[in-house]
Amino acid sequence: MKIFFRDDDLGWDTQRFQMLLQVFLKNNTKLNVAAIPKICQENYVKGTFADYAELLQIHTHGYAHINWKATGKRCEFDEHRSLEVVRTELTQGMTLLQELFPLLYFPAFTPPWNNIAARFLPLLPQIGYRILSRSTASNQIPAPEIQNLDVSINLHSVRQKLQIPLNVVLEKIKLDYPKPLGILLHHTMMDDLDFAFLDQLLKLLAKEHISTHFFSEFANEPT
Ligand SMILES: [Zn+2]
Repeated sequence: MKIFFRDDDLGWDTQRFQMLLQVFLKNNTKLNVAAIPKICQENYVKGTFADYAELLQIHTHGYAHINWKATGKRCEFDEHRSLEVVRTELTQGMTLLQELFPLLYFPAFTPPWNNIAARFLPLLPQIGYRILSRSTASNQIPAPEIQNLDVSINLHSVRQKLQIPLNVVLEKIKLDYPKPLGILLHHTMMDDLDFAFLDQLLKLLAKEHISTHFFSEFANEPT
């Protein structure tokens, strides 16, 4: 059985991200991180995390993580924005992170708030993104011409601060099989209890021989 973890918002709260990284290192578990290009440019220097290439893979999380939508579900790539401006942002969102994290970057895209207008989806494969990751909860139609790899469990969010029982996570993994199950984390929202819970979960997964994977390992594989 396969799963993957996706932590969103690399760039914000660098100290708390270090705490998250330590939990994954301690358990020798792979972590995919969605990085905000403009924020990472301000808060990290080139080559940061270079020692962690075995356990950490970084991909693009929007451009500046700004909401452009006046009402409704928040969205950085709202349909009213200019196609050319969005093309530039999506392109820079790849090149900035490639420069910062050359050993760890994989061309995948997670839109902020798991939300991107349908008219911009064709830009992703054109620019060179190979995977689009959103959330199964948003019931979106799979994007064409790019692999879709959505998360289906959100362990920590603003609305849902409770912890899902470990056996429920295990059941979901088994139910989703043979599809890989995606688990979403938000390090900026995690407290000590959340880190302890995650540590328990990673230990349980290892015990159950459930393997964790990088996005790159799913590329070109039917999911
Ligand atoms: Zn985000």
